[in-house]
Amino acid sequence: MAWKTREEMEADERGMLASFAQKSGDSRGRIFPEPRHAYRTEFQRDRARIIHARAFRRLEYKTQVFLNGTGDHLRTRLTHTIEVASISRTIARALSLNEDLAEAIALAHDLGHSPFGHSGEEMLTLCMHGHGGFEHNEQSLRVVDLLEAPYPDFPGLNLTFEVREGLQKHRQLKTCGSLEAQIANLADEITYYSHDLDDAVDFDILSANQLEETAVWRHSHGNVKERHPEVREPELHTLIIRDIIDVQVRDVITSSAEAIESSGVATPDDVRGQERLLIRYSDELQTANAELRRFLYQNVYYHPRVAEVNRQACEMLRTVFEAFVLAPDLLGDAAAKRIESEGLYRTVCDYIAGMTDRYLIEEHVRLAKL
Ligand code: MG
Repeated sequence: MAWKTREEMEADERGMLASFAQKSGDSRGRIFPEPRHAYRTEFQRDRARIIHARAFRRLEYKTQVFLNGTGDHLRTRLTHTIEVASISRTIARALSLNEDLAEAIALAHDLGHSPFGHSGEEMLTLCMHGHGGFEHNEQSLRVVDLLEAPYPDFPGLNLTFEVREGLQKHRQLKTCGSLEAQIANLADEITYYSHDLDDAVDFDILSANQLEETAVWRHSHGNVKERHPEVREPELHTLIIRDIIDVQVRDVITSSAEAIESSGVATPDDVRGQERLLIRYSDELQTANAELRRFLYQNVYYHPRVAEVNRQACEMLRTVFEAFVLAPDLLGDAAAKRIESEGLYRTVCDYIAGMTDRYLIEEHVRLAKL
């Protein structure tokens, strides 16, 4: 049997995807030009580079919301990332967009996250005050452009323009980005709305009454009751979460299809020139999600059982940061080499942002003994 060449896969994309989808054969390419691959498209190749990156493997031991290791079923940055990739693919395929591109962006979107979740990021931002700050989206780009170093001929993973574009937020980019980038961005939100609710119920910090306060939960609870009137906890909440994801994904697919149609865009560059993002929720769901987001901030992210352990962890982060600034010779070799070009604070920040929760805790013990 004849095997399929990259050129044939590129032709398949042209035949099957929408005119406004980003085709891999039309990629603007890489900062350091490389010969193309025999049987992988440019975006498939980027996806593989991301999955094989060390920063990707470390996502397994980084906190999403609940401190890493506190429960076997709670999300980590890695399982969060895989869920985002899965939802991105579903939306991209339903809209005849480039699944490989949406997936690659989703897999890389959290590579720049610091250990210890939201609170870790806040603490690192504080440590970098007056030294250029810290922002996890910018950091994801630093990881793929500079900090990963698997190739002898260039720094970073040398990803395509389109995947790098997808890692930059709308305001950094000054254009809308591709539809595939917009999908990965919204899929991230859908994923954390649903799994943070799921994990919070699992972690016993939300009561049934509290959950009924949010329209998103009430609506899906109603849907599940209609379909399965007999079901009780713990199956009930699992079914509600599943319904929430389904409602969100379906809403994004239909609302985005309408928005794309009425915008009249015909090419990926038409999409980039739009004033408003075309991958979107309906106005109704947008309002319900804003309420859900407030609910999560009020009742989950800063719940004492979440915030207290994170606060203690963050104190460790600060101590380790200050120790490395005072004694840069304690840094690993690869990091120490970057001090000259990146500066001391940025080098320490990159080093700590890359750490897993457990490695930071180990470093805290090691440095305390010195
Ligand atoms: Mg994320």
